[in-house]
Amino acid sequence: MDVVTIGETMVLFTPEDSPLMRYSHSYSRKFGGAETNVAIGLTRLGHSTGWISKVGNDEFGKAMVSFIRGEGVDTSQVKTDPHAPTGLYFKEVRSGEDVRVQYYRSGSAASKLTVNDLNEEYIAKAKYLHLTGITPALSDSCYEAILKAIAFAKKHKVTVIFDPNLRRKLWSEEKARSVLLEIAGLVDIILPGVDEGKFMFGESDPVKLGRLFLAQGADLVVLKVGSKGAYYFTRNSFQLVSGFPVKKVIDPVGAGDGFAAGLISGLLEGLTVELAVQRGNAVGAIATQIPGDFEGLPDREELERFIHAKDAEDI
Ligand code: ATP
Repeated sequence: MDVVTIGETMVLFTPEDSPLMRYSHSYSRKFGGAETNVAIGLTRLGHSTGWISKVGNDEFGKAMVSFIRGEGVDTSQVKTDPHAPTGLYFKEVRSGEDVRVQYYRSGSAASKLTVNDLNEEYIAKAKYLHLTGITPALSDSCYEAILKAIAFAKKHKVTVIFDPNLRRKLWSEEKARSVLLEIAGLVDIILPGVDEGKFMFGESDPVKLGRLFLAQGADLVVLKVGSKGAYYFTRNSFQLVSGFPVKKVIDPVGAGDGFAAGLISGLLEGLTVELAVQRGNAVGAIATQIPGDFEGLPDREELERFIHAKDAEDI
C-alpha cells in the first residue's frame, strides 16, 4: 500500500433548493471526510491507498463503505460498530468565502475507534501514514489510536504525514493546541495552514512559522497559503511555490486535502520537493472548482492538462 490513512468519513448533506439550510426542503447526499478525501485524491492519481475507520451498522455506513471502495480505496480495515451510528454533517456554501458546517458526529461509530482496531502489519506495509488533527479530537480512544499508529509507523520506518486540520468545534482550544503540538513533534512531514500555525504558535509570518514547525522535529514542513500556493521548509532551504490561478472559487472545502494528495503523490514518485509542492498546488486549485469535498479531485490526465495550461483561460 502506498498510503494508509485513519479517520472519520461522514454522510454529507448539502441544501439543494436554497443555499441556506433554513429554507431548503431537499438535500443532496454525498460523503466527506478529510482522510478519505486525500485517499481518493491519491487513488485517482494512480496510487494504492487504504482507510482505517469505523462506521455504524446502518444504511449510511454501508453506502459509505461501498462508495469509498468504489473509488478504489481499500476498506478492509473499516469496522462496523453495532452500537453507534455513522456520523453526519451538513454544509452550507453561502459563497466561495463563506462555507458553514454543522456536525452530527458526537458519539459516532468512528469516535469509538480504539488501539484494538489497528492492525500493525497493515500500517507496517505502507510507505506513508497520513493523519490529521481531526481524528484525535473525536475521543480519547481516537487520540490513543493515533499515538499508537504513529508508534507502529516509526517502528516500521513508515513516513508519517500530519495535516493539523484544526476543527475548533470538536474540542477546547487548550486541548487542541496541546495535542496538535504533541503530534507535530512526532511526525516526519507537517502540512499546516497559516491559521493553524497562528493557533499553535501565536505567529502568522509564514517564514517564522515554517521554522517553528521545523523546530518540532519534522524533516519537511509545507505551509499552505491559499491562492498564493505553499511554502516548503527543509533543514537547509525554504521556498514559496506559487499557486495556480483559478477563475472563481466554487467550493473551497477540500482544497487542503487535494493539496495533500498532490504533494504525497509527488513524493511517492520521487519528484523534487518543489515539484511535489507544485503538484499539491495544482490539485488544491482544481479541487476549488467543483462542489463537493472530493468530487473535483483530478485524475492524472486532468492534472497534467491543468499544470501545462498556459494560463487560467486555457483551463
Ligand atoms: P481546507 O479548507 O481544505 O482545510 P487549507 O486551509 O488546508 O484548506 P488552503 O490554503 O485553503 O488549505 O488550500 C490548500 C491549497 O490549495 C493551497 O496551498 C493552494 O495550493 C490551493 N488553493 C486553495 N485555494 C486556492 C485558490 N483560491 N486559488 C488557487 N489555489 C488555491
